[in-house]
Amino acid sequence: NDTCVDYKARIRTIPDYPAQGIMFRDVTTLMSDAEAFAAAIEDLCRPYEAAGIAKVAGIDARGFILGGAMAVRLGAGFLPLRKPGKLPYETWSESYELEYGSDALHMHVDGVSEGEKTVLVDDLIATGGTAEAGVKLLRRGGADIVAAVFLVDLPDLRGANRIRKLGIEVRSLIAFE
Ligand code: IMP
Repeated sequence: NDTCVDYKARIRTIPDYPAQGIMFRDVTTLMSDAEAFAAAIEDLCRPYEAAGIAKVAGIDARGFILGGAMAVRLGAGFLPLRKPGKLPYETWSESYELEYGSDALHMHVDGVSEGEKTVLVDDLIATGGTAEAGVKLLRRGGADIVAAVFLVDLPDLRGANRIRKLGIEVRSLIAFE
């Protein structure tokens, strides 16, 4: 990364959370470090500073923390993509598969306008199912998705490839193999 912060060293790993065999990457430790958090926002935004971004769409819930800060830096509005039952106005929804069962993301129907340049953000991409649901919602609203960005990529799960196949640029600051 351009700011030379060791992001990996600032992410805590919790074995067997939330289930046996899963290595959970806990980004709260990075976010609570003032220097690392500021650098991460800067590194995530840098390629898009002159791109005329109108909206940053953040995925519930850690994508909100990154997305709000990115929106301010990019001079863009913030759009929340939320879990079911949270948004007060009329919504569209997209469901996606989890290891056990399924979940869904919702977006307010007036969340984006046709052709608005949008950056999608979440803390981590694994299988890419969550991000793909976000892409579908934004496209339904007519957004021009410039990129999907993440702090962490788990490349073994091939989520970034899945999103690239949809024709979207994917960037992440670090990867855990
Ligand atoms: P995917 O849909 O399989 O790509 O999973 C990504 C979603 O699950 C994101 O919203 C992440 O916040 C969450 N997630 C999955 N694994 C982890 C992890 O190890 N740490 C933090 N979030 C995770």
